[in-house]
Amino acid sequence: MAEQELKDISIIGGGPTGLFAAFYAGMRGASCRIIDALPALGGQLMALYPEKYIFDVAGFPKVLAKDLVRDMATQGLQFGATTHLGEVVTGLRRVEDGNGGRFVLETDGGEYPSRTILIAAGIGAFEARHLGIEGEDLYEERGLYFKVLDPKQFEGRRVLLVGGGDSAFDWAVNLQGVAKSIMLIHRRDGFRAHAATIRQVEEFCREGRCDLRTFWEVKKIEGNGQVERVTIHNTRTKEEETIELDAIIPLLGFHSDLGAIKEWGLDTEKADIKVNQTMETNVPGIYAAGDITSYPGKLKLIATGAAEACIAVNNAVHYINPKAKVNPGHSSNLAIFGQKED
Ligand code: FAD
Repeated sequence: MAEQELKDISIIGGGPTGLFAAFYAGMRGASCRIIDALPALGGQLMALYPEKYIFDVAGFPKVLAKDLVRDMATQGLQFGATTHLGEVVTGLRRVEDGNGGRFVLETDGGEYPSRTILIAAGIGAFEARHLGIEGEDLYEERGLYFKVLDPKQFEGRRVLLVGGGDSAFDWAVNLQGVAKSIMLIHRRDGFRAHAATIRQVEEFCREGRCDLRTFWEVKKIEGNGQVERVTIHNTRTKEEETIELDAIIPLLGFHSDLGAIKEWGLDTEKADIKVNQTMETNVPGIYAAGDITSYPGKLKLIATGAAEACIAVNNAVHYINPKAKVNPGHSSNLAIFGQKED
């Protein structure tokens, strides 16, 4: 496996936290790279809710998740951070080189030497929860979709949504006027979605624009290399119904897995990594920020992830070069942005 260039900071995770960390690294003159298992930057925002509006990011009264990612990537990559997408971090080792030592991050695609590591791995490398029925893999991306990246994909199509949470109800709203028909089934009669969205969907049902059924589950998918019909069954009455349709979208949450990161001797609390006030883990030189961290009062939000990325990177810069100040100064005064330093 080819070993890559030594960087100051290797960031595991290209979600909002990792992207903001790349920005701060560049601003502090530290070289960095981002490694992510997903094929695109943006973490949960791109993988789970690209078309949803976010209302609690400073400076944006409201912003679409995918637009926030676009702008965070522009900001984060402006100093030349490299990105290595579609690579899962599988290992980490420490190498003594007579110069303070370095880490080598191992992925399924290469080896990445680094002076420090910043884990911004969110909820881990995640995978959508499947229906659990025989043969469903045959239809993945052939009428069976575990996420909606572009609603236009469902234009004029007969869609079955499966689930009782925010994602399922949001898409029952957002596909109105796009999909030809929308059915939403859930295995229970209790929903986890926002009450206002549930009321909105119930109103659509009264108007005949949506068919919401509780105690129904998918039993069988059929089609010739593409979803053509589905058999659903009622878990209480045992009734079965076969429906002709074009797309099934199960939105049942996801499994996440920290994978190899669990083996690095880091102090954890449940699935999260414990950090101190400088965002350092119990292993010197390894920092963590964003959803993956645990400390008293922790909030898992984009805003807190950004602040933690800033703290982690500035402390990593000081760790690499103890003469470098932790405090970055104000960006509005920095020469790197063409500003006059006070
Ligand atoms: P993530 O976004 O999870 O990114 C982590 C990245 O690390 C992922 O891309 C993953 O692939 C990668 N990764 C993990 N493990 C590995 C590995 N071993 N190898 C390689 N790559 C790896 N927050 C708000 O502030 N406001 C909101 O309105 C809001 N709405 C939300 C709506 C929904 C439906 C959901 C699910 C979340 C919402 N959140 C919201 C939460 C917000 O998305 C998270 O707080 C944020 O994404 C955390 O960012 P992160 O960069 O720390 O982690």
